[in-house]
Amino acid sequence: MSLLLIDAGRHACARLHDAGHQAFFAGGAVRDRLLSRPFTDLDIATCATPAQVAALFPDARTVGASFGVVLVQCLGVELQIATFRSDHSYSDHRRPCSVTYETDPRADVLRRDFTINGLLENPLTGEILDYVNGRADLDARIIGAIGDPVVRFAEDALRMLRAVRFAARLGFAIHPATLAAIQQNAPAIQAISSERVRDELSLILTESNPRQGFVLLDQSGLLPLILPEIAAMRGVAQPPEYHPEGDVFTHTLLCLGYLENPSLELALAALLHDVAKPATFNDSSGRIRFDGHAEPGASLARGILTRLRYPNAVIDSVVSLVANHMRFMDVDRMGQAAFKRLLRLPRFDDQLELLRADSLAALRPLATYDLVRRRIAEIPPEQIRPPRLLTGGDLIAMGFPAGPLIGEILQAIETAQLDGALSTPDDARAFAASRFHD
Ligand code: ATP
Ligand code: MG
Repeated sequence: MSLLLIDAGRHACARLHDAGHQAFFAGGAVRDRLLSRPFTDLDIATCATPAQVAALFPDARTVGASFGVVLVQCLGVELQIATFRSDHSYSDHRRPCSVTYETDPRADVLRRDFTINGLLENPLTGEILDYVNGRADLDARIIGAIGDPVVRFAEDALRMLRAVRFAARLGFAIHPATLAAIQQNAPAIQAISSERVRDELSLILTESNPRQGFVLLDQSGLLPLILPEIAAMRGVAQPPEYHPEGDVFTHTLLCLGYLENPSLELALAALLHDVAKPATFNDSSGRIRFDGHAEPGASLARGILTRLRYPNAVIDSVVSLVANHMRFMDVDRMGQAAFKRLLRLPRFDDQLELLRADSLAALRPLATYDLVRRRIAEIPPEQIRPPRLLTGGDLIAMGFPAGPLIGEILQAIETAQLDGALSTPDDARAFAASRFHD
């Protein structure tokens, strides 16, 4: 994808140059090119006004017109072409009240967030324009704000989460002055809409290093403001024989660290699987216990994800993963029927991955996980959801009364079928007659 984007971007810049305008690759694509990382979108910055851009690209579509961004198609690829601009007077920690189009590329760089995101590249000559020491910070692996960090985070509080996200994704450090400014401005994050916080959080969780992301959210003071329930895990002790890694917060972060390219649902479930441990902590017996923490954890997770405006389908999946995360614990004593029902859980692959990460995060051998995998391998897939042997109507025809008993008998028949004790409708009839007719 990156190569096609670059070709398309060169094409678009050449057209702008031919018409007498300056045009550069800007932002993330330049950063990622210098880091030899793939990228999926390409932003072009130009001195041409949106009207001038539109005149050169017949299919141009204007988006966010007040910010001067035009979408164009080039070689079948969509590109964003934005007019150089400066932003003015942020009154609400979110959006500039007005923007001014500029002809000087430097002005456009100075309104950007971090030095590594402030590089411009002339794609026709390969020249890099670096007004903010972005290359030095790329080399030193540092996320540093452009300009006065305190001012820049007060202008737009979302940048604080972006700093964490880029640091985690790239494995960079946040410059001490930039980190101190986040700590100072952290409460302003509450002015940002839940949707925008959610989107940054989702990226932090699913990009390359969610564990570092949460270490930084904690260090920066943002964590108790956006996810107080996770901050509350800090200092909640666990029984050392089961959790030598330390407190619930340490365990949760380790669990995030063991995920490999997780789905969003799995990453959220790893974050939230023990969210009810602070509330269920009980050491009255002389030993620390968190009895039944999975169920209250599921309802806490629902509340948190609803607050963050995740879609219902995501919420339902995460809630199920959290609610069921302890169900593997007695898998060595579990009969076939119960085990097969476990395999039918929604998003079972994620459920199993959560088990793997949860076990590793407790410094536990993967014995349970390996046993589950071995048992799965022994079960032919068609035996997980075998066809029903009898219907409720069949039972009524046998003389059983309509009502709750019918459901009970059907369940018992399925259990015996999953256990391998029944395999035909006649078996099932005989079973029902002997067990439930008196
Ligand atoms: P990604 O790889 O996540 O897309 P990106 O750097 O391309 O990273 P975008 O959100 O696509 O980030 O934004 C493109 C560019 O716009 C950034 O590189 C940065 O220069 C600028 N930018 C984006 N958001 C902000 C912001 N909130 N404040 C200042 N500049 C911003
Ligand atoms: Mg981008």
